[in-house]
Amino acid sequence: MSQATGLLYLVSAALFILALRWMSQPDTAKRAVVSAVGGMALAVGGTLLHPEIVTYKWIGIAAALGFIVGFPLSRVPLTAVPERTGLSQAFGGLAAGLVGTAKYYLWLDQGELTSFRMAVVAGEVILGCLTCTGGLMAAGKLAEVITTRPVTYKGQNIVSFTLLGAAAVLGAWLVWDPTQSWAFPVIIALALIFGVLLILPIGGADMPTVISFLNSYAGLSAVAMGFVLENYLLITAGALDGASGFVLSVIMCKAMNRSVTNVLFGAFGAVQTATQTTEQRTVKSATAVDAAELLTNADSVVIIPGYGMAVAQAQHRVRDLYDQLSKRGVDVKFAVHPVAGRMPGHMNVLLAEADIPYDRLVEMDDVNPEMPQVDVALVIGANDVVNPSARTDAKSPIYGMPIIDADKAHTVLAIKRSMNPGFAGIDNDLYYANNTLMLFGDAKAVIGDVVKQLSGDGATH
Ligand code: NAP
Repeated sequence: MSQATGLLYLVSAALFILALRWMSQPDTAKRAVVSAVGGMALAVGGTLLHPEIVTYKWIGIAAALGFIVGFPLSRVPLTAVPERTGLSQAFGGLAAGLVGTAKYYLWLDQGELTSFRMAVVAGEVILGCLTCTGGLMAAGKLAEVITTRPVTYKGQNIVSFTLLGAAAVLGAWLVWDPTQSWAFPVIIALALIFGVLLILPIGGADMPTVISFLNSYAGLSAVAMGFVLENYLLITAGALDGASGFVLSVIMCKAMNRSVTNVLFGAFGAVQTATQTTEQRTVKSATAVDAAELLTNADSVVIIPGYGMAVAQAQHRVRDLYDQLSKRGVDVKFAVHPVAGRMPGHMNVLLAEADIPYDRLVEMDDVNPEMPQVDVALVIGANDVVNPSARTDAKSPIYGMPIIDADKAHTVLAIKRSMNPGFAGIDNDLYYANNTLMLFGDAKAVIGDVVKQLSGDGATH
């Protein structure tokens, strides 16, 4: 490795670490993206300076192909980002698998396949291949190209892990005797099949968490690839990727009050998980005029966005509402639940897109003690994250999941299109509460109507 390459790798590793640090706050997130992109550019630049490169022809062709595939993938709408990420991981896994395969046959031919090299190649190929098919399956489930329902059968986990175990045993055998080359394609096949079987029993709605796990596997395969290619930056970046993917998955599981094993093996969504009540209960509905009046007469309003705000793409109308209320001296805050929406940071990204000031965003733990003093909790397309049964009903599938205590506000205004349940498939007592008024309709249209009321000569503070 030349000195220039080493220096570029060092700066690049520092930029990756800073990017992760900055990614943890909304106001530094853009800087984080610039830092990560800069780090990657330097990493690619450093690699291109590598003295071992004899021709740039194939690198150029690969880069052109990558650009042709990657450019349209970068244009997908925000709601399709989870499946796009699944595809990216599939490509990352494929790259690791291919590099490992190439290196195995090259080193085998040259008689340079040491035990250490064989061990990392086997690890890289197993992790890369399972990430490849796992990523494709996750993307397919999210795009609803394949069934989003968990597919289960008896003895499923035993079958899956026997396959993975067999791949690992064959890998170990190759470490012992690398010349048994028939075993190598078998390892690849077993890992590819395991990737499919790993995702089959997981419901479509759990895919964002799974994608985050796959991120972690892709990172680990990159670490192994770094050892294979003796590239220290790949080892560092892969370790960062692997660790951050795992930490993110654990954060998401905790916020849903589910264990990692429940997400991966619980087949959540396979059966009706709710204890559906058969008794007819009534809800009170309100109009945009009622809502406008309630909101302008409030001193404090906490807006709780959820998946429905993303579906309706209502964030810009929400910004208009925020402007109208702030102009009237109402204290408006946004309470964002860590798993609101369908991917980590979903609500933060949408609110940032609508230029909602970051200092108006409050975390669940900070806002909950204030909720009993709040005049109006405005729930926009959120359901599970404000469902009080998480606190009270031990039989509920979301029991124990921390929620935003919208029900404790003086009045709750809840916007959704129907009484249909959310992700967890369960009824929500909040909608039937005495202090709740439902605003039925598409979130964008409903908030648009409320804003119209406020911007006309309607209610004043
Ligand atoms: P939710 O419980 O899925 O509820 C969303 C609600 O939005 C639905 O009840 C739906 O009711 C309403 N809605 C849909 N389209 C709408 C529209 N156009 N206008 C108005 N309302 C609309 O969402 P959430 O409260 O945000 O909770 C997220 C759930 O996803 C949690 O259970 C969480 O565990 C899970 N999850 C999150 C992540 C993540 O990373 N964020 C990952 C995996 C799972 P209608 O159909 O009646 O309109």
